[in-house]
Amino acid sequence: MSTPPDLSAICQRCGLCCDGTLFPAARLEEEEVEPMRKHGLAILREGGGVGFEQPCPQLERASCSCSIYLDRPRTCRRFECSLLSRARTGAIPVQAAVDAVARTREIIATLQAKGMDMSPGAPRTISGSGDDAYELMSLVAELMERLHGDFSRASPET
Ligand code: SF4
Ligand code: SF4
Repeated sequence: MSTPPDLSAICQRCGLCCDGTLFPAARLEEEEVEPMRKHGLAILREGGGVGFEQPCPQLERASCSCSIYLDRPRTCRRFECSLLSRARTGAIPVQAAVDAVARTREIIATLQAKGMDMSPGAPRTISGSGDDAYELMSLVAELMERLHGDFSRASPET
């Protein structure tokens, strides 16, 4: 019997599903509201639904880990991105997934360093012209492609 791949290196370098890059908010179930409020999550109510705001305060950014891992909400337990899913099934090597995370984080850091607002829901607007604007446009396009291709939910939420 083959040993399952060690996937920990992928999420521990990523955190995009907790830091607001992928989602401005995440869903909660009603009975989770009070426990999660006590954990410091900012509760949101809208249109009959309930959730919490991202970036999540329980994300430990240095290690990209969840400080309430054993208590985390069900939506967090259920989420798996396409990249992680492909590494889990062996469709891609773990190192390829780690490299994809590193490249995505590098793009985000570059855009932030160039002054782009990367907060949840912020428009990725580019002003100016010339080589710098062209480079920014290329990076934004690559980022969008990676976020939609690699980091979208692997299977519909149940
Ligand atoms: S976006 Fe995917 S790879 Fe990144 S932390 Fe979440 S599940 Fe892991
Ligand atoms: S509770 Fe944990 S897993 Fe869920 S968004 Fe926050 S840091 Fe991520």
